[in-house]
Amino acid sequence: MRAADESKEPPVTIAPPLSPVPQQRPQAEPRVNPRSAPTTPVLTVDLAAVGGAYRQLRAALPGVDLYYAVKANPSRAVLDVLRGEGACWDVASPGEIEAVLAVDPDPARISYGNTVKKPADIAHAHALGVRRFSVDCDAELDKLIARAPGATLLVRITTSGAGADWALGRKFGCDEVTAGRLLARAVTHGHPVGTCFHVGSQQRDVTAWDEPLMTTARLRAVVRAHGTDLAVVDLGGGFPAHAADPTPDVPSFGRAIMAAVGRYLGPDVPPLMAEPGRGLVADAGTLETEVVLVSERAGRRWVYIDVGLFSGLAETMGEAIRYRISAHRDARPLRGPTGDVVLAGPTCDSVDVLYQQHRPRLPLDLRVGDRLRIHAAGAYTTTYSSVGFNGFAPLREVHR
Ligand SMILES: *Cc1c(COP(=O)(O)O)cnc(C)c1O
Repeated sequence: MRAADESKEPPVTIAPPLSPVPQQRPQAEPRVNPRSAPTTPVLTVDLAAVGGAYRQLRAALPGVDLYYAVKANPSRAVLDVLRGEGACWDVASPGEIEAVLAVDPDPARISYGNTVKKPADIAHAHALGVRRFSVDCDAELDKLIARAPGATLLVRITTSGAGADWALGRKFGCDEVTAGRLLARAVTHGHPVGTCFHVGSQQRDVTAWDEPLMTTARLRAVVRAHGTDLAVVDLGGGFPAHAADPTPDVPSFGRAIMAAVGRYLGPDVPPLMAEPGRGLVADAGTLETEVVLVSERAGRRWVYIDVGLFSGLAETMGEAIRYRISAHRDARPLRGPTGDVVLAGPTCDSVDVLYQQHRPRLPLDLRVGDRLRIHAAGAYTTTYSSVGFNGFAPLREVHR
């Protein structure tokens, strides 16, 4: 509705207002440079940083083939960069195989690392030339023996997930006794075999690889007793992003892991691979988001932004991944005193609250229209964005 003093038309109301309707003074519209302030929410991925992360991890893990876990960020531009660096691929579905083959036609460079696969998808992958599959139970091994003859089978052992902010152990892996049986069965059916494990994502303890490598050494004895040796040991993923909590640097992980490899698998170390996802792409991504509302609820300051649990920040579930966040106005950092906030997404769903226990600190004068930058957000964001829950668009991604 137009304000009374702007209207040149005769009023249609019966009683004209006695005094001008008090104009609710809107907050000043932020003056934004459209080039430095893109439409939010948007994830900007620095492709040079992806290449740099790959080279750094490669240097830290000498002799280890790196299979990029595509689910972390499957965008074509990211796959192209990693292809250029010489990466191999860890995939979980026919869709990911297709995405990878579009940038790298060699199916021998693909590992089908999902332990839960439809029989038809195994057959399809095998027909395309994929020759490396993961397994953690007899029923899945039955499928692989039937549909992936001759393929290398990696038996996934369980890990505690200790030290990781995003543990994976409850859904995947098997105990040592089961692993020994699966390895023996696979060997008996003529498969080359290996072991694999995942120490949990956003792993912040450099010694987390020790225990599964120790288990691998004992399983190696089982395999050797069947007249062969491990064709590969897969060190999995887990390498952390630079989130809010401090993490050791990549060389520290490399030193600890390679020392454990030597200790438990040396001197005759089997071929090694790893499946980094987050560690290659997270730090390269910055998610820019706009402050929609700042309000006071039950004595706490709530900040609502235009990205949430359904539009890319699924890993804040249980406040597991705690991002670094900075505040900006007119493309400049907001300085000044800060206070803690509850941070929430924009949808009409009460679970769409990002942080309530972990209390990010944001400037006290933060207001509607300011920008928050969520750092190290290049992994597990665009792919976790829903198709548009509650009418909020999926998270866009751009590259520089
Ligand atoms: C997701 C996944 C990875 C990547 O894990 P990050 O913690 O992102 O490095 C590696 N391997 C498998 C089997 C996975 O499912």
